[in-house]
Amino acid sequence: MRPQILFPLFTDIASLKGVGVKYEKLVIRLCGSKVVDLLWHLPYSMIDRTYQPKIAAAADGRIATIKVRVVEHVPPKTKKQPYKVVVEDDSGQMIVNFFKVYGDSVSKYLPTGAPRLISGKVESFNGIKQMTHPDYMIRPEDAEKIIGIEPVYPLTAGVSNKMLVRLIREALARVPDFPEWLEHNFQKQHGFPSFREALLKVHHPRNMADIEPQSLCRSRLAYDELLANQLALAIVRQKVRRQPGRCLQGDGHLRRKVMENLGFELTGAQKKVLNEINQDMAAPYRMLRLLQGDVGSGKTVVALLSMLNAVECGAQAAIMAPTEILAKQHLETIQPLCAQIGVRAELLTGKIKGKNRSLILEELAEGKIDILIGTHALFVDGVVFKDLAYIVVDEQHRFGVQQRLSLSAKGNRADVLVMTATPIPRTLVLTAYGDMEYSKIDEVPAGRKPVDTRVVPLSKIQDVVAGLKRKLNAGCRAYWICPLVEESEKTDLAAAEERFASLQKIFGNKAGMVHGRMKEAEKDAVMEQFKRGDISLLVATTVIEVGVNVPEATIMIIEQAERFGLAQLHQLRGRIKRGFQASNCILMYGYPLSETSRARLEIMRRTEDGFEIAEKDLELRGGGEVLGNRQSGFSEFKIADMSVHKDLLYTANKDAEMIVETDCQLSTPRGQALRILLYLFERDDAVRTYLAG
Ligand code: ADP
Ligand code: MG
Repeated sequence: MRPQILFPLFTDIASLKGVGVKYEKLVIRLCGSKVVDLLWHLPYSMIDRTYQPKIAAAADGRIATIKVRVVEHVPPKTKKQPYKVVVEDDSGQMIVNFFKVYGDSVSKYLPTGAPRLISGKVESFNGIKQMTHPDYMIRPEDAEKIIGIEPVYPLTAGVSNKMLVRLIREALARVPDFPEWLEHNFQKQHGFPSFREALLKVHHPRNMADIEPQSLCRSRLAYDELLANQLALAIVRQKVRRQPGRCLQGDGHLRRKVMENLGFELTGAQKKVLNEINQDMAAPYRMLRLLQGDVGSGKTVVALLSMLNAVECGAQAAIMAPTEILAKQHLETIQPLCAQIGVRAELLTGKIKGKNRSLILEELAEGKIDILIGTHALFVDGVVFKDLAYIVVDEQHRFGVQQRLSLSAKGNRADVLVMTATPIPRTLVLTAYGDMEYSKIDEVPAGRKPVDTRVVPLSKIQDVVAGLKRKLNAGCRAYWICPLVEESEKTDLAAAEERFASLQKIFGNKAGMVHGRMKEAEKDAVMEQFKRGDISLLVATTVIEVGVNVPEATIMIIEQAERFGLAQLHQLRGRIKRGFQASNCILMYGYPLSETSRARLEIMRRTEDGFEIAEKDLELRGGGEVLGNRQSGFSEFKIADMSVHKDLLYTANKDAEMIVETDCQLSTPRGQALRILLYLFERDDAVRTYLAG
């Protein structure tokens, strides 16, 4: 299936000259196992060997390539001394030092009386020019072996730069002239060279500017990589769009009643998003849509109203939360609203067993239950719906493309809405969630008070505690978050417990603690006390669940805030946003605080907009981190760098859209070239699964 033109690049690196078994293993760990992987291993620096001074003129500290004659060898008198070789040219003499000498190797490289070209760093010692272990010692007639400018690659123990340069050169020699997959005018307008030329130039830098990710050649390669990513996703997206679905278009009678009972108007953003969802549900294809909305933007209401659309059509809907606690919270919100309009909403989790469970399953199969709320236990065997037409997945952005597709197969040609409160930057939406349609609630209900956020050093902890005391005496409730970083969980926990002990001395039995090592029941008990107000200070490691709701809590103190990801800080702070009540967040940091950490905390202080926070974090850190490395979705790029190539991504996205619209089977000449591109960047899943020929 892979185009033949790519065969030479998709063979094992063992097929390259001089790759022994041991070396092969090292290179595979460093770059990958195929010849093509070597192409993506880009230099991060370079050594300029074009400087060719006379000995007397050679500047200290510079890499120089000098033509010399070998005068004499001076073997060391003690073990500590280097083996010295005196060399000269018509300007003067220089000493070449060797600290490790094997047999007569030095005499072989530098035979007395012979002319040699040596290249390495020049230094002066007591006024005498020296060069220690030259990188090259060759005959002058082999001068072209000393590459004028040598790229410097990321290395690993046992793989020298010289070896890697040679190997990559060999890999480059296998790169054919591909048919151009970029659109002609676009290529011209950007001044992009061909893929092959760009690749060759990237591996043969002439100056440091060529090493920069924004150089023309690297940009071209980054664009190719991004286009492959976007095109593969666009093909999947189009395929999903074409899967037969159902036309769910209720008459609105249930939704109208619920809205009357809500007691507030929907925000413009909620209306807009509901419109998008309704249109998708009404259309005769399968919906797969990502709904993003910050904490408190009102996603639950949107989920409920769209579920009622399905119920109005006589079908069933389900909403799936990541944890029991969140499922119960959904039940608490949704069930009363449904009860008022005669719609049955029930809970099903793994904990519901025995008679209760069989009753629910029975009623579900008979269609007496309209809306089922639960955890992933909703989709285990034995749970049978009468007619499940709509599935809402809450906080499950961690799902992969395939999982999302398989989910829609669970119901009866069900539409799927994936909701997330984790701010996913636009760039990441495109690269990792590009198989889905996308809606965003970009507005929170009006009239909410901002959280007063302050950044203070840990040394001011006495003041913080004093302020906290006043607030708790006035009847407030507060969270105190201690950092817990997995690598040193034990010491972290010890530190948290120590902090709890010292706070308990001050606040007595008003303070309680939860952490990850506690049993579920113990944790629940403490949380319950906090909810009831029996305790008013909850000391916690970050185990407190996303979305846990204690409306009376208005204070959040986070210790060593610089150790948290910004997204995490944002989620934590979201827990004390209480609409019309004032709330306070204190970010305490330890010393020393790096420039970047300071900037990150400053963002937290300045804004509550989760999307802005995510974007800024991305800029400061260049990817990863925002969602935690595991699911960052950026690590998959070998060349593209989101802190530099964002605009190219947007362009690639549009380009891909246009391609699937005008040439959905990739059958035109450009389409054929694009197939090669998809295979080249190993995005061939999409081609194999969804395209013919
Ligand atoms: P999310 O799930 O996005 O975090 P919720 O749906 O839980 O947000 O809504 C947060 C709170 O805001 C709830 O108490 C909800 O009743 C309320 N709410 C939702 N939409 C509106 C609105 N348009 N106007 C006023 N309050 C709203
Ligand atoms: Mg919610």
